[in-house]
Amino acid sequence: MEVKSNLDDLRDLVERFMEEMALARYRAGAGLGEAGAVDSVIRRHNSLMDPAILEMVAEESGTEEAGVSDELRRALLFLHLDEEARPSTERLMAEMRKARLRVSGEDIPFLDSSRRIDAEGDRRKRALIALARANKVAEWEPILQHRLARLDEKSREMGRKGYGALLETESGFDLAALEGQIGEFLARTQDLYREVFSWLMKSRLGMDPADAEHHDLRRAFRGEEFDSLLSEGQLLTALSNFTRAIQIDLQAAGRIEFDLEDRPGKQSRPFFSRVRVPDQIILTAAPRRGHAHIRAWLHELGHSLHYAYTSERVGFEGRLLGDNSVTEAFGFLMERLALEPRWLKRFAGMDEPVPFVQFASAHRLYRLRRAAAQYQFELRLYREGVSTSLADEYRVRLSEACLCMVPRAFYLFNISPHLYSARHLRGWILEAMLHRHLVHYFEEDWFRNPRAGQFLIRLWAEGQEGGADRIASQIGAESLDLQPLIEDFEKKF
Ligand SMILES: [Zn+2]
Repeated sequence: MEVKSNLDDLRDLVERFMEEMALARYRAGAGLGEAGAVDSVIRRHNSLMDPAILEMVAEESGTEEAGVSDELRRALLFLHLDEEARPSTERLMAEMRKARLRVSGEDIPFLDSSRRIDAEGDRRKRALIALARANKVAEWEPILQHRLARLDEKSREMGRKGYGALLETESGFDLAALEGQIGEFLARTQDLYREVFSWLMKSRLGMDPADAEHHDLRRAFRGEEFDSLLSEGQLLTALSNFTRAIQIDLQAAGRIEFDLEDRPGKQSRPFFSRVRVPDQIILTAAPRRGHAHIRAWLHELGHSLHYAYTSERVGFEGRLLGDNSVTEAFGFLMERLALEPRWLKRFAGMDEPVPFVQFASAHRLYRLRRAAAQYQFELRLYREGVSTSLADEYRVRLSEACLCMVPRAFYLFNISPHLYSARHLRGWILEAMLHRHLVHYFEEDWFRNPRAGQFLIRLWAEGQEGGADRIASQIGAESLDLQPLIEDFEKKF
């Protein structure tokens, strides 16, 4: 197929590609996938991978009457980068699927090793699984290095000074400003986290916090005793009570499908798929237990509601592209319901929600600090390029943020796609601002107020148009403000 010169056609092509890809990925994650389905979507849309498209788009953007928005240009740019990295990404996936860990005569699939670490009460055995996992990941370092090298080369082919330089100009937000905010967040929550961490280690594992390793922290955060307090069945009941009170249609008039049945090959982590925005959104979850699972479920629901309520009048860019910090904020806002004692009492029938809320809030603080350190590390990686000294940098940074020893082997394994860690961090900051606004106008129990429901529906209707700054301005702020997030934690403990 020839490169289309008509830009509307190009927009349609990208939209169709995204739809077909979302459907293929949904089917793969839901255990319904046919082998090679994702490949065949890419083959069908081969014309989008033509380097001439990038040249054409670069020429057409940045002018007054430009037919190509920054969002579309960036989407194509990152599509080309993903395509360049795809062979290494797929090789890593294949390795992960077949890898087994031998621990004390037991054979553990690599993909089950995280769950096993969380569940293992015997510290010696847990440490051995964690060590075997880290050793396995270290074997994949050459694949991960190769992947980054491909991204770097491709960026240079596109006339940039490297992948890091490309991220600096094409992420669409000020990387250094976020770095400053994140540094402040880590500093200002340090004492609070030290207390929380010490309480967790002593009360849950009976151990000296100074001796804790990362696998101990994972074990402490499993929290089995909360499993029966908020099961998936209770969650569904709570959600239907909640949405009735706030007057939001949980299914968005049929635009959200729920795929909740158990099925071999179904991914254990909940995920959402935007097959068509706003008409066909699928929330997929396998029945599992645990506070982290329930919160991940709520998070994906937040994304699903956001996209299913996006107005069809919003253009392609605002519906499918743009700043994902916006949708992350809505994900975190729904996730927060499991941290609201009044929501848990009223809708989930939890009599004594406070211990659960404290535990889940501690976990949230840990995740945020970890993501903050991860972002700092990723910036350093992109500024300096890969070197083995960076593995030590990773260990030190992450260990300082989490207050326990994080193995260095994960330094390339855990990096987020195209600095996505920043979208989560900006989403968390924006969510705390939104939450403060909701409480200010609709009071502490905003979640049972239909006017709050209307307010959210209005925000969702605009999709991601205007990015995080648009939402900030709609709630009376000039830009992303860290203060509400910090105060949020100070109030929780
Ligand atoms: Zn998310």
